[in-house]
Amino acid sequence: MTLFMPDYRETPYWWDQAAPRDLPKSAFRQRADVVVIGSGYTGLNAALETARGGRETLVLEAGDAGSGCSTRNGGQVSTSIKPTVTELTRRHGQERARAIHDEGAASLAWIGAFIGDEGIACDFRVAGRYHAAHSPQHYEALARSIATPESGEDDGAHAVPRTEQLSELGSDLYHGGVVYPRHAALHPAKYHRGLLDRVLAAGADIRAHCPALKIDRQRGGYRISTPDGTIEARDVIVGTNGYTGRATPWHRRRVIPIGSYMIATEPLPPALMDEIFPTDRVVSDTRKVVYYYRASPDRTRVIFGGRVSSGETDPRLSGPKLHTEMLRLFPQLSGTRISHSWLGTVAYTFDDLMHTGVEDGIHYAMGYCGSGIAMASYLGMRTGRRVLGLTDSGTAFDGLSFPTRPFYTGNPWFLPAAVAWYRWRDNRAMRRKAGCPPAHS
Ligand SMILES: Cc1cc2nc3c(=O)[nH]c(=O)nc-3n(C[C@H](O)[C@H](O)[C@H](O)COP(=O)(O)OP(=O)(O)OC[C@H]3O[C@@H](n4cnc5c(N)ncnc54)[C@H](O)[C@@H]3O)c2cc1C
Repeated sequence: MTLFMPDYRETPYWWDQAAPRDLPKSAFRQRADVVVIGSGYTGLNAALETARGGRETLVLEAGDAGSGCSTRNGGQVSTSIKPTVTELTRRHGQERARAIHDEGAASLAWIGAFIGDEGIACDFRVAGRYHAAHSPQHYEALARSIATPESGEDDGAHAVPRTEQLSELGSDLYHGGVVYPRHAALHPAKYHRGLLDRVLAAGADIRAHCPALKIDRQRGGYRISTPDGTIEARDVIVGTNGYTGRATPWHRRRVIPIGSYMIATEPLPPALMDEIFPTDRVVSDTRKVVYYYRASPDRTRVIFGGRVSSGETDPRLSGPKLHTEMLRLFPQLSGTRISHSWLGTVAYTFDDLMHTGVEDGIHYAMGYCGSGIAMASYLGMRTGRRVLGLTDSGTAFDGLSFPTRPFYTGNPWFLPAAVAWYRWRDNRAMRRKAGCPPAHS
C-alpha cells in the first residue's frame, strides 16, 4: 500500500479551505507612513493597528500574502513562553521573569478576545491542551509545576496520571500528562484570511511578491529597495520571523531558522477519532524535539506535526517520517494514508525567547521558537501601537538584549548536530522508562 492518498498534496491541509489569495497589484507607491515587512500574523496585526490609527500603511511580502508560517502551522494556541520562571529569574530577576510569563498569558487571553471582537470565523475554540510526559521524570516535573504554579498561566491546570490517560488520549506510550484548559485551537489559514480582510478594509496596501531587499536610513525615515522600485517611509516594522533574510542582517544574526513539518491523514472513522482524541484537546509532548497533534476542526483527520530533521525540504520525505512517529504513538492508525504533507520555517533564538523592540529606529517582533500564533499576533499588535506612539504599547520584552553568537550570520551550521543530540536524549529517556537500557550508556 502506498502511504500517500491518490490526491495527496504538498500544500497545507488548511489551504484546501483558505489558500493564500492572489492579491491584485495596485500602482506602486513610492511613499508610505509605515512599511511593514512580512504579511504573517506579526506583520498584519501591526499593519491593522497603524492603518486603523490613520497611518498610510504598506505591507511588503516576498511571496503570496500569508505564505509563511501563519497559514502552515498546527493551529494550537498557547502562551508561547518556553523558559520556566525559574530559568528566567536566573537570567533577568524575578520581577521580569513573572512579567514575561504574564505576557504569555496575556497574549493567549488577548487573541481569543480579538478574534471574538473582530468576528473572525476561524474555528477558534478553547479546547485545552493535553501536554504528555515522555518519561516518568517529566510527568513528576509537570505535576510539580502545576502544584506550585509559577505564574497565573496555569490556572485550572491538572495532572492526569498514566492510569487515567486513555480518558485524554488514545496512546499508551506516554507517562501521564497535564491539561492546560485555557489553551485553544483554531484554523490558522482562516484566521490569517480574516486578518487580511480587516487589514485591507482598514485601508492598508499589501504588495505580494515584492520583497524588501535593502533598508537605508535617510533624513526623516527610511528608503526601502524592492524589485518594483524604492519606497520612502517614516517607520519600518520587520515581521519576517523564520524567513528573515539579507535585507535585515542585524535580525538575521539573531534568529535560527528551523524547518517544522506537518501531515494530515485521510478522513478516518468517527469511532477512531473519538478513541484518539476523546476530549478533542490539542496535544503536545515534553520531548525537546517535540511532536504535536490534534483533530482537524471537523474531527475527521489527524493533523500531526514535529521536527523530523533540521534541513529536509521535501514533504514527500518528511511525511513518511512523521507517519512512522504517529504510528509509534497510535498503532491503531496503521494503514492510514497521508493526504497532505507540508513544512514551514520557524525562528528559534539563542535564549529561547521571542523578542520585540527597536533597532536603529526599525521596529521588529520575531523569534517565537515554534509557538507564535498568540504571541506573534499580540506582539504585532503591540508593535503597531508603539509606532503610533501609544502609551499601552509596552511589553515585558522591552529592553531585553536580543542575543546572537560570534560569527553567526544566519546560517545555522550547528543545527543537525543539535537536533541529533536532543533526539538521542529524548529517545534515551523514553527507552529507559519503557524498561529498555539506553542505547549508548
Ligand atoms: C509547521 C508549523 C507548525 C506550527 N505550529 C504552531 C502551532 O501549532 N502553534 C503556534 O503557536 N505556532 C505554531 N507555529 C509557529 C507559528 O506559525 C509562527 O510563530 C507564526 O506564524 C509567526 O508569524 P510571523 O508573522 O512572525 O511569521 P510568518 O507567518 O512566517 O511570516 C513572515 C513573512 O515574512 C515574509 N518575508 C521574509 N522576508 C521578507 C522580505 N525581505 N520582504 C518581504 N517579505 C518577507 C515571508 O515571506 C513570510 O510570509 C508553527 C509553524 C510551522 C511552520
